Amino acid sequence: MIERLSPNGYLSGDRDYHLLKEEERSQDMMCALCRKERPLRKSHIIPEFVFKLLYDNKHKFHLLSAIPTKGNAKLQKGIRENLLCQECETSFSKYERYVCGVLTGQENIHSVRKGRIVTVSGLDYKKFKLFLLSVLWRAGVSTLDFFESVKLGTHEEILRKMLFAENPGPPDQYGFLMAPLVVRDVVQTDIIVKPSWSRYQGHFCYRFVFGGIIWVCFVSKYRPPELARKAFLSLEGKAVMLVSEMESVSFIMRLAQDLVHMGRA
Ligand SMILES: [Zn+2]
Repeated sequence: MIERLSPNGYLSGDRDYHLLKEEERSQDMMCALCRKERPLRKSHIIPEFVFKLLYDNKHKFHLLSAIPTKGNAKLQKGIRENLLCQECETSFSKYERYVCGVLTGQENIHSVRKGRIVTVSGLDYKKFKLFLLSVLWRAGVSTLDFFESVKLGTHEEILRKMLFAENPGPPDQYGFLMAPLVVRDVVQTDIIVKPSWSRYQGHFCYRFVFGGIIWVCFVSKYRPPELARKAFLSLEGKAVMLVSEMESVSFIMRLAQDLVHMGRA
């Protein structure tokens, strides 16, 4: 008999595995993206390259979280979940490879800086946008505490269908802003912040911090404000970013102060 490890770690021949309710077992085996019953991979929610960059650079890794009961090291390993089949993982990894190349300077893109404003051009709209949509959607479907603030509601299924069809949608649909996070002009690639939501001129947004960038995704049925739309990644591959000194980013500073108070930093 060939023993197969179930996604939750039980051997299929184990008594405990059979004690699981039928619907629990079938849910465990269903890929969240293609909805096919397949063996699931331990999927990263925050892309794996973000962690690899940290190890490669021998950076100290700060995972800022407001959950006082969990240690940083535990969280770092813990932000993976049985979510996707191999085929769907492979499809997401295409976008991740591309964005990793962009962030590490291996892709041929052009940027011009004027004060705090950086205009980037030459980005691959489809790959870059699908990358961010995949992170947003994964965070939404994740059951991990770290992503508890990301609740996509009806947008979850819309995003799943877009990702499954590899359709990035138009720039205004789930558009996003990017702000490189710096301390005295050095990009802070070693910080990952627990995602949170906020409002931007009345529009609902989710905020992620990883890979040295604050990512603000607009999740709304309504058209985002014009100023934001001008900064969104365009079909031509242009985006406008606002360089942000860490000291002036209030939500990160508040979190850091909370952690100091909790004795974790
Ligand atoms: Zn799948």
